[in-house]
Amino acid sequence: MQPLPAAGRVYLVGAGPGDPELLTLRAVRLLQQAHVIVYDHLVSSAVLDFVAPAAERIYAGKRRNEHTMRQEQINALLVKLAMEGKQVVRLKGGDPFIFGRGGEELQALAAHGIAFEVIPGVTAAAGVSSYAGIPLTHRDYAQSCLFVTGHLKDGTADLDWPSLVRPRQTVVIYMGLSGLPEICHQMMHHGAPSTLPVAVVQDGSIATQKVVTGTLADIPGRVTERGLASPSLTIIGEVVKLHDSLAWFKPAPQDKAG
Ligand code: SAH
Repeated sequence: MQPLPAAGRVYLVGAGPGDPELLTLRAVRLLQQAHVIVYDHLVSSAVLDFVAPAAERIYAGKRRNEHTMRQEQINALLVKLAMEGKQVVRLKGGDPFIFGRGGEELQALAAHGIAFEVIPGVTAAAGVSSYAGIPLTHRDYAQSCLFVTGHLKDGTADLDWPSLVRPRQTVVIYMGLSGLPEICHQMMHHGAPSTLPVAVVQDGSIATQKVVTGTLADIPGRVTERGLASPSLTIIGEVVKLHDSLAWFKPAPQDKAG
């Protein structure tokens, strides 16, 4: 392994959706070499098992409505650690450049002249759909795929609804669990058929994975019935029909020993 440089540096690393087998080789190497790991709540404990025992671990939190550290505080912390000469891994769930605010953190580092690198990860759309057996594109069903955030500002969704309801496309919604009833309502209101298939996947790629399928009309009720929680990813489109025949990942039963 190449020794890390002497001056402080920040590695913005994608941790993938949860299964540590989906980490990149570069991510594993850096987790084993860094002095400090600053990680988010989305990073699974199985991924943290790869961190060198001597490394300092700092939890930066950030759950909906209970931000442990504000974004500005995280930015300032990264700057401070790098200025102390440390090799810092900033570890984020999925890919750091997809709904991860990784770009903002790098802007703060760049403003202070701090060296950084970006190590991509498997984003939830790719990892979670794979483990749920839902191809995002398929010649019979979808020729394009749209990634959007369903995080609603002040409870109102200001998504570009006409672009979401285009036919022969798959829509993947990050952070959309609490806004799901509003999203389904708006899509139907903007012309999507109420029978359009939808899947909501909680804890994709780890032992607690749950997949709930339905349609725009009934998915909010089904999700409530099954008690799905965050993190959950919503996949909307005809490709969801393939789940029945392509689901391959069998999460370990939770309520049985061994
Ligand atoms: N940068 C991350 C996304 C951060 S936004 C990435 O590239 O994946 C957080 C949202 O990602 C969650 O609200 C959820 O919608 C989705 N997500 C991340 N990991 C997930 C998982 N294992 N299972 C289901 N959804 C997940």
